Amino acid sequence: MRYDYIIAGSGIAGLYAALLAREHGSVLVLTKGSIDECNTRYAQGGIAAAVGPGDSPELHLQDTIAAGAGLVDEEAARILVTEAAERIRDLARFGVPFDSVDGEVALGREGAHSHARILHAGGDATGAHIELSLSSLARMSNITIKEYCQVEEIVVSGGVAAGVVTLDTRTNTPETFEAASTILAMGGCGQLYRVSTNSEVATGDGVAVAYRAGAEVMDMEFIQFHPTALRLPGAPVFLISEAVRGEGALLVDGNGARFMPKYDERGELASRDIVARAIHTEMAAAGADHVYLDTTHLPAEKVSARFPQIYSYCLEHGLDISKEPIPVSPAAHYAMGGVRTNVWGETTIRGLYACGECACVGVHGANRLASNSLLETVVFAQRVVQRTLESDGRNRAAERTPEAGALNEPGRAGSPPPDRSELQSLMWDNVGIVRDGVPLREAIAALFAWQAALPPPSDRPGHELANLVLCGRLSAEAALIREESRGAHYRLDFPDPRDGWLRHIVFRRDV
Ligand SMILES: Cc1cc2nc3c(=O)[nH]c(=O)nc-3n(C[C@H](O)[C@H](O)[C@H](O)COP(=O)(O)OP(=O)(O)OC[C@H]3O[C@@H](n4cnc5c(N)ncnc54)[C@H](O)[C@@H]3O)c2cc1C
Repeated sequence: MRYDYIIAGSGIAGLYAALLAREHGSVLVLTKGSIDECNTRYAQGGIAAAVGPGDSPELHLQDTIAAGAGLVDEEAARILVTEAAERIRDLARFGVPFDSVDGEVALGREGAHSHARILHAGGDATGAHIELSLSSLARMSNITIKEYCQVEEIVVSGGVAAGVVTLDTRTNTPETFEAASTILAMGGCGQLYRVSTNSEVATGDGVAVAYRAGAEVMDMEFIQFHPTALRLPGAPVFLISEAVRGEGALLVDGNGARFMPKYDERGELASRDIVARAIHTEMAAAGADHVYLDTTHLPAEKVSARFPQIYSYCLEHGLDISKEPIPVSPAAHYAMGGVRTNVWGETTIRGLYACGECACVGVHGANRLASNSLLETVVFAQRVVQRTLESDGRNRAAERTPEAGALNEPGRAGSPPPDRSELQSLMWDNVGIVRDGVPLREAIAALFAWQAALPPPSDRPGHELANLVLCGRLSAEAALIREESRGAHYRLDFPDPRDGWLRHIVFRRDV
């Protein structure tokens, strides 16, 4: 079948792009699970936009650049903050019920933002509301949606993306779809890690298929670890939003002593990498697997009204957060890196676009500012669709990076392939919050051997494992190459930033 647009992924990036693209041609949305299984639906804090009194896109830009530790692409970040208000209006038009107070939009405050600028919906249920609003509208529209359909390969013909090969994940049947424009919106790779806030579907498929097709990928060493995920015995990892700290919650050790002021003058609202490493240090010193986030000094009604999901989730697991502190630890949360694009979402392959968490346009640099990721998805998805209209069928591509390197391709080997949990433990222990040369080299050797040992994938788990191993390699190799510490990437053996490293690490496979 041939379409004007193939969109891979049904999170906010994919569905929002589809809702815009349907005005201009036939649209096929492919998604490997049910339509609403994605990271988007778990987003709690909200979406950033400088729309409040005293705030401005310029101030938002300054905060974004400061968080990104020297690697933010200023042009892309300026677009992000300038086009924010218009994209928020689109989301409201598509039915997202943003919270308001006395007729004015309600704005929360999050770490490293100088102003209250986080729009939310249903308190901490922002992502669920976004996903439901967009997917309901998409289902009622002229968009063709194929669920349980995993994209496993991009078809490139004469240097131009021509469509995708997919696998029906229930019958393992392959199928090929063609399109003038192929848009990757396949989300992140948080499933690389043992402790992760990410959905089961976040297995780095977008980066893996793009890299295999010959597109450039960038910044794979920068993985954001969220400082505060719930660590209750028996309860699945669950995010305790940064907005909870924004409302005044305090991080304390096992003796109830506050520790963040020791690490940063912004205390609990320092940027995520600083808070995550501080918790990591406190946990290591105490030999504990968690610290505590204390909300007990806040009015109980405020906590339950502002954070209904967190409050009820903890209560279901026997913890009343208005009376007891919450045990928390860091968890893998967000991939700053991804398929390299220009500010129009064009990858280095003509006809192939990427947006959302699987893409890397450079707005986050070495560290994402909280709530900028949902914003990035819509700002750049809109630009992708706009670009497809301007190119009159003559697809363009982002310029290639001359210094991009390729991974060594492994041959076949007889050692046993890993299972997903072995891979996740390796990444958590060796390519995690705190890195060091020797463990990184060990990880790369293990990943290389596993890549060689993997049988050709024939079902969804097989494809996901192969994609995770490839993303793990891209991430570990970049982390070893970057001999410095910057943003979310921290090396014990190179603990400071170095001026020579104000540049990006880009991989491109020779095809
Ligand atoms: C717990 C949590 C809380 C968060 N809170 C916030 C927040 O408050 N504010 C904020 O800005 N950001 C937040 N984030 C980050 C943000 O939610 C994500 O970056 C964003 O939702 C990504 O959107 P996306 O559309 O790119 O990817 P996703 O929403 O993850 O969607 C990816 C889609 O691609 C599909 N897919 C994947 N592989 C394939 C394949 N091979 N074939 C076909 N389909 C495929 C998936 O099934 C899914 O439909 C949070 C993330 C998490 C995990």
